[in-house]
Amino acid sequence: MRHVVDDPRTEADVVVVGAGLAGLTATRELKNAGWTVRTLEARERVGGRLKGYAIGEGKVADLGGEYFGDKSTMIAETARSVGVEGFSTFDEGRRITYVDGRRFEYSGLAPWRMGPATLADFGQAVLRIERLARQVPPEAPWDAPGAAELDSQTFWSWCRRNVATATARSFLTMAVEAAYCAHPADLSLLHVLYYANASGGFRYLLEIKGGIQRYRFEGGAHSIPIRLAAALPDEVRLGAAVRRIEQRGDSVVVSGPGFEVRARWAVVALPPTLAGRIDYEPALPGYRDQLTQRLPAGSAIKCLAVYDEPFWRAEGLSGQMTTTDGPFRVAFDTSPRDGSPGVLSAFITGSAARRLTRLEPAERRAAVLGALARGLGPLAGRPRDFVEQNWLDAPFTRGCYHGFAPPGVYTAYGPALRTPIGRIHWAGTETGVHQLGSMGGAVDSGRRVARELLARAAEEGRPDGVRRDDVRRNGADAVSPVVRAVGRG
Ligand SMILES: Cc1cc2nc3c(=O)[nH]c(=O)nc-3n(C[C@H](O)[C@H](O)[C@H](O)COP(=O)(O)OP(=O)(O)OC[C@H]3O[C@@H](n4cnc5c(N)ncnc54)[C@H](O)[C@@H]3O)c2cc1C
Repeated sequence: MRHVVDDPRTEADVVVVGAGLAGLTATRELKNAGWTVRTLEARERVGGRLKGYAIGEGKVADLGGEYFGDKSTMIAETARSVGVEGFSTFDEGRRITYVDGRRFEYSGLAPWRMGPATLADFGQAVLRIERLARQVPPEAPWDAPGAAELDSQTFWSWCRRNVATATARSFLTMAVEAAYCAHPADLSLLHVLYYANASGGFRYLLEIKGGIQRYRFEGGAHSIPIRLAAALPDEVRLGAAVRRIEQRGDSVVVSGPGFEVRARWAVVALPPTLAGRIDYEPALPGYRDQLTQRLPAGSAIKCLAVYDEPFWRAEGLSGQMTTTDGPFRVAFDTSPRDGSPGVLSAFITGSAARRLTRLEPAERRAAVLGALARGLGPLAGRPRDFVEQNWLDAPFTRGCYHGFAPPGVYTAYGPALRTPIGRIHWAGTETGVHQLGSMGGAVDSGRRVARELLARAAEEGRPDGVRRDDVRRNGADAVSPVVRAVGRG
């Protein structure tokens, strides 16, 4: 893949900022429509929040996004289109959880030994969240019935009123921290419901079989953006950290250290908090800037421990382990499809990530391996390899899995998420409707932004005054790729 220094000054119909799944999807769609596209990626690799790690024998484990379910149709289509196959997540054997220091082994969604009152309390809470979530339209959560009330409280305030037992609250907090990478006290209730409904349901978010963690990708999810980008050699440029976007009349100029691209339109395919750090000229309207000031990224550090084999399977354990107060909220068996080598992924999320990010990597490693050994036996404390990806520290991500909304944001600023400002359009998983926050949301947003631009081009034609009618009259070859594409309909 080429570096931006290869051709630092270029022109294109559209410039895309960010070569994650969202930016690459938009690039592919627009290229297929005949447009010239220049896609600027800050890192020396594509894929953003998807990242692979070599675990030997040519196999790769995921340090970023990984899972998809039966409802994740868009990422599944994209994967198929580049020849990446899915396979079922290993989900056999007993699960282990530590709830406020007490150990339970169980199968199903929650351990029955927590006691009937706690279980009933947890179950009714999940059902109520599910019912509320169904009323929140993923395309416009701010239009949900009672949106103002749902958006005026945190998920934690809701739990205090609706979940009676302390243990059920702890268990629910753990589940939410694992799925949203934020503490319930950070999250608007409306955001929790919005994300759940857009993903396919609250319970669906928490499940493996029958849930969003049902499948993984052969070769790792990162192989999807790598293959997408391999088919876009003329479009994608690495090492291009965009610092400034200027809108000048009928064009945009997107620049960073040592490069400048002029285009008709720009697509910013970044997490909202990073989109807000670009310097815009003229300055963006306050309502857009205030939105990006208010959509922080979640907190997650993903750790991989690699073993010669998944030894826990022989002991009837699934390798799944959750803790309400340990260093990580959840760990999964993420061994390759053939079970060799054995891999455990531990997710340090939410409040745990905030605490542990301040430690030295060696201290985090000791904390994670100590907890795995406590749950799965001493062998778990002695992996042959251990690696962590601290997404909070990553300059071109700054937290994950996705941006979330504290109370009051969606109802006051929500529509600004996807509304173009002049010649700048917005993509990125946080702007997705289908499975926002996930890989599917990124694909959805990339497709949507391409549709927006094609429709705009049909309306506006080119700056030289050529419009769709002219194309029909004079023939498409005489004009730019933008209009040619539109002229083809
Ligand atoms: C640990 C972890 C676990 C996850 N688990 C799952 C999962 O199991 N299933 C699932 O579906 N999703 C999961 N996700 C979420 C999923 O990875 C993301 O939703 C998706 O990859 C986001 O894609 P994107 O293109 O919107 O954003 P990104 O991937 O963040 O892409 C943005 C791109 O822009 C680049 N960039 C940033 N700043 C600039 C700049 N100034 N100039 C130029 N380029 C810039 C970045 O380097 C990046 O490549 C997980 C994420 C993480 C981190």
